[in-house]
Amino acid sequence: MIADLSQSDLEALGARVRADYDAFRARGLKLDMTRGKPAPEQLDLAEGMLALPGNRDHLTEANEDARNYGGVQGLAEVRAMFAPTLGVAPAQVIVGDNASLAMMHDAIVWALLKGVPGSAKPWSKEGEIAFLCPVPGYDRHFAICEEYGIRMIPVPMTGDGPDMAKVEELVRDPAVKGMWCVPKYSNPSAESYSDETVRRLASMKTAAPDFRLFWDNAYVLHHLTDDRREILNVVEACAEAGNPDRPFVFASTSKMTLAGAGLAFFASSEANVKWWIARASKRTIGPDKLNQLRHVRFLKDEAGLIAHMDKHRALLAPKFEAVTKALSDRLANQGAARWIKPAGGYFVSVDVTEGAASRVVQLAKEAGLLLTAAGATWPYGKDPNDSNLRLAPSYPSLKDVKAASEGIAICIQLAAIESEQAKRKSKA
Ligand code: PMP
Repeated sequence: MIADLSQSDLEALGARVRADYDAFRARGLKLDMTRGKPAPEQLDLAEGMLALPGNRDHLTEANEDARNYGGVQGLAEVRAMFAPTLGVAPAQVIVGDNASLAMMHDAIVWALLKGVPGSAKPWSKEGEIAFLCPVPGYDRHFAICEEYGIRMIPVPMTGDGPDMAKVEELVRDPAVKGMWCVPKYSNPSAESYSDETVRRLASMKTAAPDFRLFWDNAYVLHHLTDDRREILNVVEACAEAGNPDRPFVFASTSKMTLAGAGLAFFASSEANVKWWIARASKRTIGPDKLNQLRHVRFLKDEAGLIAHMDKHRALLAPKFEAVTKALSDRLANQGAARWIKPAGGYFVSVDVTEGAASRVVQLAKEAGLLLTAAGATWPYGKDPNDSNLRLAPSYPSLKDVKAASEGIAICIQLAAIESEQAKRKSKA
């Protein structure tokens, strides 16, 4: 532990790590670990899709012409294929265009302007409303709330999902209308909600009768190990608890097929699906059904989808290994950082010494290594402890991920030594 070192040992370690840092910087690398984008090799896995559905192949199972207008809910064969993954019947699925984030955005805007099933009035007419935001969390969720003036209340993650005692207390406030959840392989902590967490979210008493769980299952099939985590079915759990309209489930094929040209999904109760179709049909005459057809032709069925995800895993798992190995090699038993080895998802979340995250990002930048801004995983970009870092190893090559991870570990160690030195100085 750095904190337990004698003064002279601390100084000696500081000098050694500073030299490692200078050597790393001298390599003049240009590395970017900021965003969880699929690598080109992952996109190549779906290259065959670009030629589909192919010449004259444009008829759906229902004999409709996929080239034409219509079909707001999405093709029946696509809904049937993804329904098991979403945990609902095909009739409870909406297929959107390429971004589930756009569907989450629309859900919030429609709730603000029109209300949701069970609302006494539109959310925008309620005065100030609030969303619970498990932290660390996904910056783009927080950006939607910030954009529309929805107050964000951080709730700590525990390893089993959000701190449920806190959540149950906070939802007693009728201003709390919703909650962001990334229930499996969460962004960025990679933790999955326990069955008990899901049950408590489904059954808790909320003061707002129209409270919604924004259940963003972005990493539903994104395993990195044989320990394929399954979580409780939130739509069933909510229905059993007498709150059938509580969950809005989202997912997409952005990190299954093509990040910029996948399919997005909304799944929920019958009432919510009806509500969605009523809103969506004002916005569009129909989605891109050729892309839907392309997806069924390419993936074929649920088994095809799962086999395809195994190919992603083969490309991604070594990169995650490289990150956690570099962190363990340098930082084990130092008291400088905490992290878990993700079993899925797209991120490694690292908690460094309090007050040191922005220093790590700065040190990394000066050494040619771009990291996500410190604070990004908190509402309003403000991490009160300045301690969480989100590492995104998917995009760079394995060689670059290895180099970057060694560099990050050096920066974390150096920042921890600096802060211990500063602490001792201020006490002296
Ligand atoms: N939700 C989460 C939790 C994500 O991490 C991401 C991508 N980083 C998205 C949604 C974006 O999904 P989509 O491409 O479907 O908009």
